[in-house]
Amino acid sequence: MRTPIMAGNWKMNCDNEEAWQLAAAIADEKGDVEGCEVVLCPPATALTTVLAAIEDTNIGLGAQNIFWEESGAYTGELSGPMLLSCGCEYVIIGHSERRGRFGSVADDFTPELQKVFGESDASVNRKIKAALSYELTPIVCVGELLNERQAGQTDEVVTSQVRTAVDGLAADQIDSLVLAYEPVWAIGTGEVCDADEANRVLGVIRGIVAECADESVAQEIRILYGGSVKPDNVVGLMQQAEIDGGLVGGASLEADSFGELITAASASVA
Ligand code: PEP
Repeated sequence: MRTPIMAGNWKMNCDNEEAWQLAAAIADEKGDVEGCEVVLCPPATALTTVLAAIEDTNIGLGAQNIFWEESGAYTGELSGPMLLSCGCEYVIIGHSERRGRFGSVADDFTPELQKVFGESDASVNRKIKAALSYELTPIVCVGELLNERQAGQTDEVVTSQVRTAVDGLAADQIDSLVLAYEPVWAIGTGEVCDADEANRVLGVIRGIVAECADESVAQEIRILYGGSVKPDNVVGLMQQAEIDGGLVGGASLEADSFGELITAASASVA
């Protein structure tokens, strides 16, 4: 039985006061959660604030990014030891907003801005290796763009992303990853992927893990779905056999809605 995970990606939201309020409200509602790992991923500026708010609860802390070097002349970057010193146990790697794979392009997002972070599959692989070397749990995001889905390339895209992400990792290292299937067209758009289809793609991903590691790792690894998960669609998603939880943006920014997602994830294994 795989323990589900509900991870909130706060993206570039919440100053320190707002982060404290939100984390404290979630801790109040769900701090004693069992049967589900809950992870809050605030912006880096609020990591220690959130850590203080979730102290003595069952809620874990995650960062939204990591750089692979330990220290040095890398302006603006954060290393594994820095994240550990803030109390992080998890780190999101390869989110589509960092890969430059935007789903719904707002008017003010010029093509230049879309590529501003420009992370490649290869840099995702380096970041995963760095995170593992500091015993941080990577939450690794993969997913296709709308035009790739329309062209029938979904399986090909996620296969390639997962293969490169785990390149050079031993089976026991792959086992300690959390994967997240996040169809880019469903992120922040309100358009959720059909639960059966999400389940199918997660099955494809599990098959790739079996090829890259082995069948027991494929059965153990947690694979999340992300993309407009909300209280009104979470139960259907969590009922799917392959879906081990969610990576959630918008609905994680409000304690009540995130609480409902946590309840649904916990109930899915009860
Ligand atoms: C995300 O940020 O990974 C995400 C899935 O966002 P949302 O839930 O808002 O679609």
